Amino acid sequence: MVMERKLNGTVIVTYRCNARCTMCNRYKAPSKSEEELTLETIRKLPPMYFTNITGGEPFIRTDLKDIVRELYKKSDRIVISTNGFFTERIVELAKEFPQVGIRISIEGLEDTNNAIRGLENGYQRGYQTLKTLREMGMKDVGFGMTVQDKNAPDLVPLYRISDEMGMEFATASLHNSFYFVEAKNIIHDRPMVAKHFEDLVNELLRSRSPKKWFRAYFNHGLINYIYGQKRLLPCDMSFDTFFIDPYGDVMPCNGTKEKEVMGNLNTQSWDELWNSKEAEQVRAKVRCCDRDCWMIGSVSPAMHKYIWKPAWWVFTHKLRSIFGGRYSMYENKIVRDYRDGRVSKEELDACSTCDMNCVIDNGLSEQSKTQLVDRSGEEIVDADIAAQERI
Ligand code: SF4
Ligand code: SF4
Repeated sequence: MVMERKLNGTVIVTYRCNARCTMCNRYKAPSKSEEELTLETIRKLPPMYFTNITGGEPFIRTDLKDIVRELYKKSDRIVISTNGFFTERIVELAKEFPQVGIRISIEGLEDTNNAIRGLENGYQRGYQTLKTLREMGMKDVGFGMTVQDKNAPDLVPLYRISDEMGMEFATASLHNSFYFVEAKNIIHDRPMVAKHFEDLVNELLRSRSPKKWFRAYFNHGLINYIYGQKRLLPCDMSFDTFFIDPYGDVMPCNGTKEKEVMGNLNTQSWDELWNSKEAEQVRAKVRCCDRDCWMIGSVSPAMHKYIWKPAWWVFTHKLRSIFGGRYSMYENKIVRDYRDGRVSKEELDACSTCDMNCVIDNGLSEQSKTQLVDRSGEEIVDADIAAQERI
């Protein structure tokens, strides 16, 4: 009997979002609810060892529980990424699925978070939701933070809050792609942002948790990323990892400039699309992709696959930290080169994916684009939520 290889999947259940984040314009480009992934399509997904449910804001879907129930039939572990606004919906779902992971994006301390996310009381709501989940006894809950110039000083203070609450703390930095409907994201003051990552790396290395030591490596990789350097580990997206969008299109990842499609699960079987010519063409593109993203979705599988590299880094740095040494961002040659004037800010900017003249294709279907002709994305989603609340 041939054992089927389990995959790592991300399910984008909707492109609708109620937040107004400064680093992501997805809220301006929502999917039409009638076109979003059905349970029938979700049943066709392959066995997975890990599934991330994301959006947009996944809790905008009132049938999210049904989706999670269906996904648990084929996935060993599920984590939902959310902006944490729909507290009641999150708590209700957690009651039925206490084993589910919940990551709430909090972009800094109260004022910073609210300024970046553009949600009224966003911080209080997110924090309160996390606290409630913790009090309910949920184990797999945590913060997610996208680090940028505006919130970098809050990085370590926020980590400490999450640590005191016994929660996971996931970090990211700015990326540009069709998925974020954004091409102008860029870190301006790299040494300042890197310094805060350096402090976080040292906090993580000081802990007693091996998981946190590997997180330290991930954050070390974020310093490398914001300086526009080659990824520390190969990117194998689309080989044993996939994303599926609200229209059933299966993609390698969410980091590409334009949407790359391997096939469509509404109209094809999984085996048919996964083994198709189109899927092979996308894999060939991934092999020479130069976007060098460093997001947990593509790095976590790589850290498992090429474990010797992060493991060696962890071993040497933990050892040094035990004997009182500190991790320094200047271990990265590019950081030294910039400090010493061997490379200019303009040269580093040119290494990033930021493109001020880019015309972004947001990956919406023609039908979803049509609804934007006479209404904005914000109006459409606000009306959706108001209608849900009237029921
Ligand atoms: S980052 Fe997330 S919460 Fe913010 S606008 Fe984009 S999809 Fe919405
Ligand atoms: S580096 Fe990997 S995750 Fe980023 S766009 Fe390329 S293939 Fe996707």
